[in-house]
Amino acid sequence: AKEQGRSRCVRYAAEMDLRAIEYAQLGAELRRAVDSGELFLMYQPVVTLPAGEVSAVEALVRWQHPERGLVSPAEFVPVAERNGTIVQLGAWVLREACRQMVEWRQTYGDAAPSRVGVNVSARQLREPGFAQTVADVLHETGLGPGDLLVEITETAVFDGGPALEAVHALRELGVSVALDDFGTGHSSLGLLRTCPVDVLKVDKSFVDGVTGTVEQAAIATSLAHIAQALRLRAVAEGVETAAQAKRLYQLGYRLAQGFHFARPLSPEDVGSRLSARADA
Ligand code: C2E
Ligand code: CA
Ligand code: CA
Ligand code: CA
Repeated sequence: AKEQGRSRCVRYAAEMDLRAIEYAQLGAELRRAVDSGELFLMYQPVVTLPAGEVSAVEALVRWQHPERGLVSPAEFVPVAERNGTIVQLGAWVLREACRQMVEWRQTYGDAAPSRVGVNVSARQLREPGFAQTVADVLHETGLGPGDLLVEITETAVFDGGPALEAVHALRELGVSVALDDFGTGHSSLGLLRTCPVDVLKVDKSFVDGVTGTVEQAAIATSLAHIAQALRLRAVAEGVETAAQAKRLYQLGYRLAQGFHFARPLSPEDVGSRLSARADA
């Protein structure tokens, strides 16, 4: 048994080395990916409850790697944060999402989504000049500041500092800010006093419980009340069933996002949804 333990240990160490090499390589390839057009965006609708009409969209980055195939952001965004590539990558995402929003506006007018959500990582938010980059992109693309929603996590801002200053600067520009995965990070409630936001995105882990027992639904229920009391919009994330959507509406949620309504879509597929609505 001891021998077995040791060989398992050696194998584990070898795997760790491999993983470190993998990691470094993925990082190097990411630097190239931004410039070589391997990244693209999908857009997941945020819909109204109970009607299910497209209200806004969230931009979600994808990496079409020449050999690895489609790589998930859950895999490469943490790598990009570690090696700093997230700054260039994030700027690209921001510009592309704003450009796309302007294009939808031109094509669909009032039927276009009201807002585009862009995920911004902690490192990006801390970067000096982040708010200026946002201002420049809005100016270049012609998107109104109110049509952009910057999605950040509690963890990015909980210790104050430059990240929190950046949030204030964004608000001064007129850009909306959402706390993403709300409830899963540090010090959620205290943060609402110091960090001025417009939207709470209630994490899927709480949404999963809404059709369960009162206890399982308790956090999603409380977060709906908190959002109402503070006059924040609450978006229920990761809604997968009609039963959840119905219950969320009863709890006071008026906005939702999830596979039940729509998966992340190509810009063309978002367009089809919008024109379907315009025809109706
Ligand atoms: P997130 O911001 O919380 O985005 C929501 C994620 O949940 C997306 O995964 C989306 O496809 C997935 N999702 C939506 N509805 C459902 C559902 O009903 N069920 C389930 N199981 N999942 C659902 P995705 O696109 O793989 O992104 C994962 C994470 O990667 C995002 O989580 C976000 O933290 C990060 N990310 C994505 N794009 C960007 C980006 O452009 N910049 C940065 N910094 N991070 C990004
Ligand atoms: Ca998000
Ligand atoms: Ca989220
Ligand atoms: Ca998440």
